[in-house]
Amino acid sequence: MTNDKEYSRTYYIEHREERLAYAKRYQQTEHRDDYLVYQKQRYKKSRHDALAKIQSINGSKLEEPVCAHCGLMNIEALTIDHINGRTDKVGGVRRAYSLYRWVLHNDFKPNTLQVLCFNCNGIKNRSHGNSKLPNYYEYAKNTLG
Ligand SMILES: [Zn+2]
Repeated sequence: MTNDKEYSRTYYIEHREERLAYAKRYQQTEHRDDYLVYQKQRYKKSRHDALAKIQSINGSKLEEPVCAHCGLMNIEALTIDHINGRTDKVGGVRRAYSLYRWVLHNDFKPNTLQVLCFNCNGIKNRSHGNSKLPNYYEYAKNTLG
């Protein structure tokens, strides 16, 4: 057993460059299209799961990401809003994929991050956080039962 392990390790070390070159060639040339599709799917899944995790931590029972202000459900138009700004406790200055990965692998307090659509996020930014839009969860609770 130990010898097998040792052999594998020695083999890996001796062929490391060769294997990295193969992976690079695989990703960049021969299977570039497959790799790009795979990368896109992985990005999409991280994004969906990160938005869903934020909602869940904020107390929502909805499984699909939704804008917390207007209720828009088109994931292509949803983004992460730092409720009280970009501090180290909510991923710091990370953006896009790096921020989604951070959300998936770290803990954060409820109502420090939220899911907003780009419109509501823009309105919030332009009104310096003083937008008069209703909170969708409150709105839904009060009007839809
Ligand atoms: Zn919205």
